[in-house]
Amino acid sequence: MRIAVLAVQGAFAEHEKMLTNLDVSYIELRKKEDLQQDYDALILPGGESTVQGKLLKELDLFDPIRQQIQGGMPVLATCAGLILLADKVENDEREYLKTLPVTVKRNAYGRQLGSFHTEQEFQGIGVVPMTFIRAPYIAEAEVGVDILAKEKEHIVAVRYQNQLAMSFHPELDEDERIHKYFLDIVIGYNK
Ligand code: GLN
Repeated sequence: MRIAVLAVQGAFAEHEKMLTNLDVSYIELRKKEDLQQDYDALILPGGESTVQGKLLKELDLFDPIRQQIQGGMPVLATCAGLILLADKVENDEREYLKTLPVTVKRNAYGRQLGSFHTEQEFQGIGVVPMTFIRAPYIAEAEVGVDILAKEKEHIVAVRYQNQLAMSFHPELDEDERIHKYFLDIVIGYNK
């Protein structure tokens, strides 16, 4: 199994470290030619969605990645990655990949609560640590989207087909269970 980590901006190195700890090989997607390598799944890291979205388009990565996800390739998206996947962004007119039928709100926790840490139940896994950094939350999820975690009343993790997306950063905590959960989706997809 090999995972392609989008590495144009943001917290991609932390996902790579997690994959290394789990003995999973990865490649980095930085330019169009990188798409020609063989890989089984994608990771869209946190960072700044506006910058990542712009770079994806400038580097000609946008359409091929969108097609791969629409074709069923598993994707793990964290924070800015979730914003890139979302069908709609409530407080931003920019449009990105739109493969995940949810509406997100960017920087949804306001200035004072910009970054925080908590622990909440994640369906199918148990209580997991959650680190939020100027995070979005999911304001609305369409029918067919599984809600996997909430923080207070807000949805913070979902799965839709092979897309697993969350507001927080599992790659910044030691707990490996969310990445393992994703790798199980990848294994299921390859069968
Ligand atoms: N605030 C960022 C955005 O809107 C997301 C923050 C993050 O990925 N940690 O894109």
